[in-house]
Amino acid sequence: MSYTALDDRSVGPFLADIAPIAERLGGRPGDWTVAEVGDGNLNLVFLVTGPSGGVAAKQALPYVRMVGESWPLPLSRAYYERLALADQAAHAPARVPALLHHDDAMALTVMALLKPHRTLRGALVEGERYPLLASHLAEFLADTLFFTSDLAVPVVDKKARIAAYLGNTAMCRITEDLIFDEPYFDAPMNRHTRGLEDIVAAFRTDVPLCLAAQRMKARFLAAPEALLHGDLHTGSVMVTADDTQVIDPEFAFYGPIGFDVGMVLANLWMAYLAQPGQRPAERPDPWLLDQSETLWKGFAKRFTGHGNALDPQAEHGALHALARGDADLRAAAMEDVLAGIWTDALGFAGCEMIRRILGLAHVADFESIADEALRADCERRALQIARRLLVDRAAFSGIAAVSHAIRLDR
Ligand code: ADP
Ligand code: MG
Ligand code: MG
Ligand code: MG
Repeated sequence: MSYTALDDRSVGPFLADIAPIAERLGGRPGDWTVAEVGDGNLNLVFLVTGPSGGVAAKQALPYVRMVGESWPLPLSRAYYERLALADQAAHAPARVPALLHHDDAMALTVMALLKPHRTLRGALVEGERYPLLASHLAEFLADTLFFTSDLAVPVVDKKARIAAYLGNTAMCRITEDLIFDEPYFDAPMNRHTRGLEDIVAAFRTDVPLCLAAQRMKARFLAAPEALLHGDLHTGSVMVTADDTQVIDPEFAFYGPIGFDVGMVLANLWMAYLAQPGQRPAERPDPWLLDQSETLWKGFAKRFTGHGNALDPQAEHGALHALARGDADLRAAAMEDVLAGIWTDALGFAGCEMIRRILGLAHVADFESIADEALRADCERRALQIARRLLVDRAAFSGIAAVSHAIRLDR
């Protein structure tokens, strides 16, 4: 079958022909309800519910949804999303929706319906709190990143896995352009809140800042350390009071571990920094800073634990210090690996914050602040912190130092 974009009416009959999906939904297609909820920038997502169960059917469009047909984007991203969902499920099955069916020609992935989950970004904008969020995200990051890295995978297998994702170039290109390049010059699709003109102009001629961003781009291009989610912002996380699920890995590829870690942290920090605009009468709630600390510390601990648990006799690509099983060497090697991830994460977090304020794709955290002057104030503060994260990374010896710099009510 060749590709056709589905719609509310055609998705039911299409799924009815896939026996395991029809069985999961139960009843007959006439009994199913369909809602197209794609609130993302790129794809169609149909939530389909039947008498026995539900599914989410995600279909790629041959162009960028938020821009239109003038910006073509290959359907193959659906293939990489499916591949990543399966790889992530191998290492962190509790943190990703189950993959139920995939159709390459239709660029369609059918997965478990997450219900009653909602996207984390919207929940944070409303001031919701999720006590398990940070530990769940730390678990997802540590498990997917460690077990796809050279620390765990024999070198020959690792190169084959890198190769399996090498074709996802169009998605990487979006990151390369939108995150690392365009915010730093007068790119046509950039936009920013009125009142930030001075800092926009200053950033474009800020040589240390532009060089730091380009250095992060070089890391992104040439460090295939582990399988990245590649788009791990708070809109790619769905939550309930006691569950956390990571969705939307269509940007997946082998890249630097600090990219995923830094993007999550940046989005928590932005959620924090938007609070004075969202609720000007209230004191900023440090919960989000606590979560960022729990997340980094939880990630570091779990990632290190995986390193220490490696069998020195087994074949893996680990550093020879790890493979030799000398406890002191092993501890030093893991510390060294983590220090590298931390430095990268700071730089990538800075890039993510800047591009969400000065680039094409903005975030609801700031966009939901109706008062333009108030929004500009919050964004200016985020930009200043982001610049420090990029240019002065060495000054942030640990996560507490970042919280201290970001805290609003000192
Ligand atoms: P895009 O790549 O276009 O950003 P996403 O995969 O992020 O698409 O999905 C867009 C939206 O669809 C999500 O924000 C969420 O509301 C909804 N969604 C996606 N997958 C599921 C799922 N498995 N269960 C329930 N809702 C989902
Ligand atoms: Mg999305
Ligand atoms: Mg997406
Ligand atoms: Mg904006």
